[in-house]
Amino acid sequence: MTKETILEALASVKYPGFSRDIVAFGLVKDVRIEGSDVEVTISVQTKDPKVPEQIYKDSQDALNQIQAIGATRVNIDVKSPDASGGASGASSDKESIPGVKHIIAVSSGKGGVGKSTVSSNLAVALAKTGAKVGLCDCDLYGPSTAIMFGTDEKPMANEQDEIIPIKRHGVKLMSMGFLLEENSPVIVRGPLATRYTQQFLRQVEWGVLDYLILDLPPGTGDIQLTIVQTLALDGTVIVTTPQEVALIDARKAVSMFAKVNVDILGVIENMSWFECDAGKKYPIFGEGGGVREAERLKVPLLGQLPIDTYTRECADHGTPVALLPASKSKVSAAFEQCAAQLIERLNTVSG
Ligand code: ADP
Repeated sequence: MTKETILEALASVKYPGFSRDIVAFGLVKDVRIEGSDVEVTISVQTKDPKVPEQIYKDSQDALNQIQAIGATRVNIDVKSPDASGGASGASSDKESIPGVKHIIAVSSGKGGVGKSTVSSNLAVALAKTGAKVGLCDCDLYGPSTAIMFGTDEKPMANEQDEIIPIKRHGVKLMSMGFLLEENSPVIVRGPLATRYTQQFLRQVEWGVLDYLILDLPPGTGDIQLTIVQTLALDGTVIVTTPQEVALIDARKAVSMFAKVNVDILGVIENMSWFECDAGKKYPIFGEGGGVREAERLKVPLLGQLPIDTYTRECADHGTPVALLPASKSKVSAAFEQCAAQLIERLNTVSG
């Protein structure tokens, strides 16, 4: 009987609702073996009593499958997620980042809904309030922050081997895009993606920040899970377009966050309408999807953003539209409103 045999058996136990197992999630904290008797301790962070029950049962079953196993004991150490949320008040295994007051993920169910555009402009709009803001592009497969902020500067490392973010448009930026050569393919999957992301998140010298925005990759894959399991997030903002196909995917993302107890801070509806020169609004992707979703989730709709050619051009040219004064651009004004609503929401959730 070895520790490896035990871990191999426990690797068949899936975290309820996920395709990953409890070993891959790092929940098995201790394995003790005495002759053929085995005691394991599994740490689970959840408010849902069904989760530890299921893990307990499945772990017992998995251990009993091992040939010649003697007495088994499964201890489940259930930690309640920090009720107040907040990057600084984490009482769990999730780590806060020293010096960073609020960590906010920006996520979407599917690609192309404008998540990176929203992350970039939200970061700029928050910085315009005088706050210290960082933005981290966590998408290993399609990093776009470097382009949206118009920089190809390569970051330097400090003496502790931490990467120093690039400062651009008043925001501290970190992106996989900074570390890659142009056109180099990034193919990292599964455990490697997890390890890479963890290392990436821990090795950045953020310094003092009021808000750190994490631009998550779309969907509910390994990187998203690693981040929500590792970092003490204040919560996540969901970006969606109004039409049903985008909302279906957004709901999948929401359900992943619910399972790991990450608060939904609000919904931002992008590409809500197109306004022609005559001022008439055309709801190209349908109407009211974001509003209804926010109502369903009982969270605020932080804002609605029109489809706007100039916004796309600004993104392509590396000067986020939110840099403009609100009086010069309706979209910039909308982002200022999103930022103000988000700040208010953060004050309510952590206050
Ligand atoms: P995602 O991060 O969800 O994949 P992006 O932010 O990269 O989406 O946006 C996809 C494309 O749509 C980009 O070219 C971006 O400039 C454009 N885009 C996003 N939001 C808007 C908008 N409100 N109006 C016009 N173009 C937009």
